Amino acid sequence: MARGVMPRRPGKSGKQEGLRRAGSRVPLKAARPDTKSALGFSAGRARPALSKAEGAPVSTSKPKASDKKYNPVAAERVSEILKRLDATYPDVTCALHHNSAWELLVATILSAQCTDVRVNMTTPELFRKYPRMEDFAALKPEQLEPDIRSTGFFRNKSKSVVGAARKILADFGGQVPDEMDKLLTIPGVARKTANVVLGTWFKKNDGVVVDTHVTRISRRLELSKSEDAPKIEQDLMKVIPRQNWILFAHQIIWHGRKLCIARKPKCVECPLENLCHAGDKTWSTVETHKNAK
Ligand code: SF4
Repeated sequence: MARGVMPRRPGKSGKQEGLRRAGSRVPLKAARPDTKSALGFSAGRARPALSKAEGAPVSTSKPKASDKKYNPVAAERVSEILKRLDATYPDVTCALHHNSAWELLVATILSAQCTDVRVNMTTPELFRKYPRMEDFAALKPEQLEPDIRSTGFFRNKSKSVVGAARKILADFGGQVPDEMDKLLTIPGVARKTANVVLGTWFKKNDGVVVDTHVTRISRRLELSKSEDAPKIEQDLMKVIPRQNWILFAHQIIWHGRKLCIARKPKCVECPLENLCHAGDKTWSTVETHKNAK
């Protein structure tokens, strides 16, 4: 071997070899329609090169005239996204365990900046100890803090839960209201929590739940350019048919947990892959858009 010439080392993860094998399976073409223009992909397009650093594909193609027609919120593209989400996540619902609107409201308040798994570990003992809304209302927030400490931000959450119990007892006869305007007057309840309660418990599609997963994936799929949850919700309400609002949010949340995770999304396994142009994809058969992430 000539001096200074090193043999090529295999990737540490083996990902590159795996990707090449995946590329030879032609799974996407077989599984997906050969649709162009507004959908933003062509099943027959050549695969892009893999980047050296990540083993991830990068686009080497120049913009095409047909790309001018690409509209990420075209009805045809959105409909295809919904169709594939339905096929992949047909029966998903809220992962927070609950037996009443009140329990769901409390669980949703506790889920801020916390995993649903952690909340589900906390709430059984919480509702065993304080079975009625009145039990929470009778507490000082400091008394509740030890019971919900493991969910994080426990001081604010304690104030919200105790305040919510007092407000619902005082103004709504002890019944969690089923109207957005009224829910928004309850301490600790913003549109996300209100949408969870309205959609999951009351089956009312007044809005779209926008949590961290919906925020990230809406941007990756170019259904919204905003980073602001209220604006993202407005954008989604314009492009997603109203009858889909509840299920769409559940599906996207599950998609965010299973495949479209924040770091290193599993694009090679994703049913939306050739509709997605996210700039932080880990594998792609279509051009990526650097602002979509
Ligand atoms: S292709 Fe990747 S980035 Fe796009 S939605 Fe699927 S997992 Fe997320």
